[in-house]
Amino acid sequence: MIVIVSNHTPEERIADLVRVIENAGNQAHISRGTERTVIGIVGQAEPKLAEQLRQMKGVENVVKITKSYKLASRDFHPEDTVIDIRGVKIGGGNLAVMGGPCAVESPAQIDEIARLVKAAGGQILRGGAFKPRTGPYSFQGVGVEGLVMMAEAGRKHDLLTITEVMTPDYVDICAEYADILQVGTRNMQNFDLLRKLGECGKPVLLKRGFSATYDEWLNAAEYILAGGNPNVMLCERGIRTFETYTRNTLDLTAIPVMKQLSHLPVISDPSHGTGRRELVETMSKASVAAGADGLIIEMHTDPDHSMTGDGVQSLFPDQFANLLRELEQLAPLCGKTFDTEKKEPAHFATWVK
Ligand code: PEP
Ligand code: MN
Repeated sequence: MIVIVSNHTPEERIADLVRVIENAGNQAHISRGTERTVIGIVGQAEPKLAEQLRQMKGVENVVKITKSYKLASRDFHPEDTVIDIRGVKIGGGNLAVMGGPCAVESPAQIDEIARLVKAAGGQILRGGAFKPRTGPYSFQGVGVEGLVMMAEAGRKHDLLTITEVMTPDYVDICAEYADILQVGTRNMQNFDLLRKLGECGKPVLLKRGFSATYDEWLNAAEYILAGGNPNVMLCERGIRTFETYTRNTLDLTAIPVMKQLSHLPVISDPSHGTGRRELVETMSKASVAAGADGLIIEMHTDPDHSMTGDGVQSLFPDQFANLLRELEQLAPLCGKTFDTEKKEPAHFATWVK
């Protein structure tokens, strides 16, 4: 249930409403918009309570929400959530670009890629220290040392960092080193992990499970939000369909649907969404046109020798830089600001395709 209150309502009246809601054994979540304030109620929203609230001063309407997720829904929180991490804004009209390798491999590798991400105008360095591999004998990531290497590269090149966390036990250490914690597609419904991320306070990028419906995905986000962490972004990374030409099918429709159903920033991952380097640039632009608030893109200086199989979907540095130049032109047409804070011109001719 939500209570819609006009913005002319004095604070004491809003406090009265919150008291009535809480005394009935519920939680109240206040969301202030430009014209209205919405108080979302989580708990047993009895019809009697709805009637009582409707009679109170300042209340414009009381509306029942039938969706199973509440805090993730736009009904509860009509304004876009903007996650501000040390001045980099994600959501609400800003375009954020995350770039980097599938896996952190060595200090030199991540340092060089970080330099190139920054030079191209990316704001966030991606890289996995713990890799969720389909087979147990495949390279599993360099582990905690990779977190250290990536934090160092991020600090040196003035980039935020994002890395995947796979188990609740590793949330604290990943949160110590990285700015954003990524939940991989295989873990979208790892509820213990989601609960732990709800407590940890660091921004979370929640990838869509490759067979998850929109409703399941938003309910997974709800676990993190309900745990007290409001900084969640949703990431469309492709779903499994009958098509085998591409690794996954990037569900572009998910982007405007998530923007409609939820206030959370939506990020697109055209690398895992297609699994093919030659499709990444087009699908990046299509994602921005569809309303994405950001992109997470794999880029590698030597993709043929990448330690995961994801070299085939990784852009070369010059492709990444060229794509970002094009996004600078596209972003304003799509109502987005792309603050690249570009430091160096694109001079990547040495990277041969
Ligand atoms: C990744 O980002 O490298 C990754 C493993 O992603 P996903 O969980 O989408 O497969
Ligand atoms: Mn990958």
